[in-house]
Amino acid sequence: AQQRYSSIREKPAETLDGDRIALHMNAGLMADLPSLEGSGAEGVGLFRTELQFLVQSQVPKRGDLAALYARVMDAAGGKRVAFRTLDIGSDKVLPYMKRPDEPNPALGWRAIRVGLDKVGVMRMQLQALIRAANGRPLTVMFPFVAQFDEFKAAREHLMREIDREEKLGHTLPASVEVGAMLETPSLAFAPKQFFDMADFISIGGNDLKQFFFAADRENEQVRRRYDTLNVSYLSFLKQIVERASASGTHLSFCGEDAGRPLEAMCFAAIGMRTLSMRPASIGPVKHLLRRTDLAEARDVIETAFTSGAQSVRPAVMEWMRNRD
Ligand code: PEP
Ligand code: MG
Repeated sequence: AQQRYSSIREKPAETLDGDRIALHMNAGLMADLPSLEGSGAEGVGLFRTELQFLVQSQVPKRGDLAALYARVMDAAGGKRVAFRTLDIGSDKVLPYMKRPDEPNPALGWRAIRVGLDKVGVMRMQLQALIRAANGRPLTVMFPFVAQFDEFKAAREHLMREIDREEKLGHTLPASVEVGAMLETPSLAFAPKQFFDMADFISIGGNDLKQFFFAADRENEQVRRRYDTLNVSYLSFLKQIVERASASGTHLSFCGEDAGRPLEAMCFAAIGMRTLSMRPASIGPVKHLLRRTDLAEARDVIETAFTSGAQSVRPAVMEWMRNRD
């Protein structure tokens, strides 16, 4: 598949009417990094740091993590890498970490909730990231932020670690970007101050969709009932675009849906300008975007929003059929 799209690898994801969409890739291991070159991704929009914790039998050491993160940044060759802090709990369980028995792990003690309750591990990881940057720009994002205070507290930890590293005489990152993943509907309705404080927001659509429809992402029986292009969900995503844009907050989408060409095109049509996906999806998504008049797509979607249809998919597919 990579080969098929090699002719557009160096070309931008620019629509027929001139909108540029930034396509980034998701990664989680050192072995993913060569794809940055091969796929034509503009950066790593989501680096899932928990994979490194999952493949070990104990909490990794700060020095080892710093060395690993530095290698990731080296391999990215100056392209932006958004490091997501440890996202454990729910579907990702560390065998060496004691956890409470939870009736509902997806709604339980996970991600930033664990980070803020067990700050030792989070602080260690933040120190490793700061040291890895070593004078280069650093991008950190916190997973599963459900309310403003959680973001404020996590960001505060990062700022405190930066001060501490400075006092210890370490080289600081050239710049620091701090973002939140929007994975619960609650965060979309957070106070404006949250949107102002976040340097960027990345929508984790896998989790967001499961909570929006109350449909377990791991349960095949219910997962497929709800279309990503459902009018309720897509118009909700559009409201997030509008709130982010009102505050000038950079917004991206990094769930699996961003890697599906039709979905990606609809996300672009409602105003998203950065999408992050598995490397193999970049070619097909770019191919469709480059053949799309986004203003026309937007009209089709807006009309479908008010038509009483459950999903915009049939209207968008019909428009595409007539267009080809
Ligand atoms: C998401 O929830 O969409 C996401 C990108 O994070 P993960 O799939 O790792 O939960
Ligand atoms: Mg998630």
